[in-house]
Formats: sequence, C-alpha cells, structure tokens
Amino acid sequence: MIPYPPRLPLARVPTPLEPLRRASAALGVEILIKRDDLTGSVESGNKIRKLEVLCADAVARGADTLITCGGAQSNHARATALAAARLGMKARLFLRVPDPAAPPPVEANILLDRLAGAEITWISREQYRDRAAIMAAAAAELRRPYVIPEGGSNALGAWGYVRAVEELASDLAGRPATLVYAAGSGGTGAGLVAGVKLLGLDLRVVGVNVCDDRAYFVAAIGAIVEELRRTWGLDFAFERERDVEILDGYVGRGYAESRPEELRDLAELARTEGIVLDPVYTGKAWHGMATELRKDPRVFGERIVFLHTGGVFGLFPKAAEIAAVL
Ligand SMILES: *Cc1c(COP(=O)(O)O)cnc(C)c1O
Repeated sequence: MIPYPPRLPLARVPTPLEPLRRASAALGVEILIKRDDLTGSVESGNKIRKLEVLCADAVARGADTLITCGGAQSNHARATALAAARLGMKARLFLRVPDPAAPPPVEANILLDRLAGAEITWISREQYRDRAAIMAAAAAELRRPYVIPEGGSNALGAWGYVRAVEELASDLAGRPATLVYAAGSGGTGAGLVAGVKLLGLDLRVVGVNVCDDRAYFVAAIGAIVEELRRTWGLDFAFERERDVEILDGYVGRGYAESRPEELRDLAELARTEGIVLDPVYTGKAWHGMATELRKDPRVFGERIVFLHTGGVFGLFPKAAEIAAVL
C-alpha cells in the first residue's frame, strides 16, 4: 500500500491519455499525450495536483491564508489564488518582476490572480533570491498562514504526481513507455520519479529543463525524492545521478523567453493535432523532444508519453511574438 497523504479533490482527474496520430507519423514514433492541461478550467495544469495535497495540509492546520511566490506570470501562483478562493481562504502572492515600481499589465495569469482576490506584492529578482525569508516574514504577521514554496515543489506537493503516475500506470496497462515532461521547480519530476519507483513501473522518466541546467535539477529533484522517501519511511532504491534523467540544452534564450523554432513547433502541434502547448514550459519540452526525435526517432524507445502540464495562459502575454511565426 502506498501511504498517500490526505488530499482535497480540487483537480479534475483522472485526465485522459490520448494518441497524437499525426505527430507520431511526422516524428516516426508512437506519441501519446497525458492531458494534465485538463485538470480544470482556470485551475488547469500540474500545480493543482500538488495543491490538492498542500491545501489538505493547510486546512488540517487551520490556515486561512496561503502564501506563495513565483514569476510574474506564475501558473502556480494563479492556481494557488484560485484554490484559496475555492476554499474560502485568502492568498498572498510574491511575484518576481524586473522592476517592482513598474508592475506588468493585468493580463493572463495576473488577471486571474486579481479576479481571485489575491494580494500581490511585486518583488525584484534580487529579492526573489530571499523569497523564503520574505514569505516567512509575511507569515509572521498573520495568525493562520500557510506557506507554499515556489511551484508547490516540496515532498508533500510531489505526492500529487505520485498519484498521477498511478493513473498513468492504469492508462498504459503494462505498455512500456518514456515519459517526457517539462521541469521548472522540480516537484513534478520528483513525484514522477518517486511514483515510478513505488509502483515498480517500466517507465523511463525524462525531464526537459526550462531553466537552470541538468546539475541543478538532479540536485533539486533528488533532494525532494530523498525527503519524500525519508519523511514517509518509503523503501525504494534511489540514486540521484542514476535515477533523475534530464535532457539539457533546450533552455534557449532563458526562462520564459522563446526562440522562433520553439514557437513554430508549438504552432504546428496546434495546427495538426488541436493541442495547444504553452511557450514557457510544455512548448520548450516538446521542442526539445521533437528535436531529439528528428535526429533519432528511437532515442526514447518505441513509445512516448508527453505530459501536458498546462500553462495555456502563458500564451497571451506573448501574442505578438507568437503571431510573428504564424
Ligand atoms: C510549473 C510548470 C511546470 C514545471 O513543473 P515543476 O513541478 O515546477 O517542475 C511545467 N509546466 C507548466 C505549464 C507549469 O506551470
């Protein structure tokens, strides 16, 4: 038995696993897509799976305010703001911008944060490095705060993706596959790696990093998996270097910055399959995967499951840049 921590049913799960027939033909290998972009409407994406577990903990501790942080257009902050509203709680967001005196326009995820009534504090890139201290100081001023780290990426949040692996195991019914996903703060990857270990599945898990580098994610994901194993007393063999696989080389111009070739691949998938990726995470991961497959269609084995982790609202602040490649 897997000792799942309590969760609140906030995500629309199980999500479908669907074949991508034309993309499979074009890239020369069977590709399926796990539709975690369908975990909700405005709450959609991977973060709500982590928040199911994190919010259950917050409620159990009697919290009335969720505190978290992220980039200006953070999908995690948006999902947290909406989850808080849904649970009758408040949300306090610390969002990173180049210049806190000149905040970005109220659009896309920021619009949803504001609609959900979240209180936003703009912080600089420099302040963001001290985000843990900044959130702790905000928490110290409240009576019933609950602090959620960047991306909801701690051992508790990662359980959301252990559960997702169990879903995927039933979708695949024993068919071997390589799971490809976008790595941003590491919690999704940690849950996937731990889930595959716990369930003993024939599933290779490959993260495409959208920021930082391979060494960073081996350490970040490794630390979360080890914390999860230790805290819940789980019995599986895990070695960071062996078990955390990262496909590096596709960060491109940097976090949340796009290259035309990434946007062209994103547009092609929309046109040929009706699947819309986001430019910050899934578009980069798809471009990395597709680029490797164009060199060698068997590089990930006979079958790929691409994890669509959501992020649709990230398209809108980049409308002009995307339109330029259409
Ligand atoms: C946050 C996010 C990711 C990355 O997940 P992590 O758990 O932070 O590594 C991938 N895709 C989308 C759309 C996201 O919002």
